[in-house]
Amino acid sequence: MTVPDRSRDIPVQRHTIFQSSLMTALLDGIYDGELTIGELLGHGNFGIGTFDALDGEMIIVDGVCYQVRGDGSATVADLEQHSPFAVATNFVPRIVREAPPGMCRKELSEFISGILPSENYMYAVRITGMFESVRVRTVTKQQRPYRPMLEATGDDAELVFSHTAGIIAGFRTPIYEKGIGIPGCHVHFIDNARTHGGHVLDFTLSSGLIEVCPGTDLQLRLPLNHEFSTARLAPEDLDQQIHATEVKE
Ligand SMILES: [Zn+2]
Repeated sequence: MTVPDRSRDIPVQRHTIFQSSLMTALLDGIYDGELTIGELLGHGNFGIGTFDALDGEMIIVDGVCYQVRGDGSATVADLEQHSPFAVATNFVPRIVREAPPGMCRKELSEFISGILPSENYMYAVRITGMFESVRVRTVTKQQRPYRPMLEATGDDAELVFSHTAGIIAGFRTPIYEKGIGIPGCHVHFIDNARTHGGHVLDFTLSSGLIEVCPGTDLQLRLPLNHEFSTARLAPEDLDQQIHATEVKE
């Protein structure tokens, strides 16, 4: 009796991606969470998210969680700080490619699509290299009563970093996860000195390495608080809200 070869049926190995709260909760102005950075780091050494009161962009690289503020400056976050939304995983670079030189975000996104075993899984994506330019925005600390994210991010300043070495980290989320996450690529940047970064709007890569970690299991943790329990999590204009707050083009 021969053992059937199932390797063609299973293009990726089991791998868990952890997520706290929902994109739709953030859009609805649920900016305070009960998950600490210490707990979050227990779920992964790599990730992105934001902090309570929408106080900056989060990027986790090599097990260190950084907080990037409105002026683009980055500092190491305290383990006791809280996050209302974050995605993390223990990054295993299962697919590794040299980036074609001089690629902009759109071209690189197509290149990454071409190396994925399937559109139907989740992927953690890490790009390490020299960037011709990186255009970012950063959310700024909000005051209660919180406004919906569409209003809160309306006046975010954009910054451009030129000729900088650094890391882009984030996730490529399938369309069917819309609302839970942000469909497509959602990535944050931090430079090699770990002093500047933000939520990436666009970039051009001079040279670098692309590493991809496929995810098969989503561990979703919903906040246990009054705000989340009464939030509007299925708005009719979800596509438009996601586009206006995250893509900004
Ligand atoms: Zn972001």
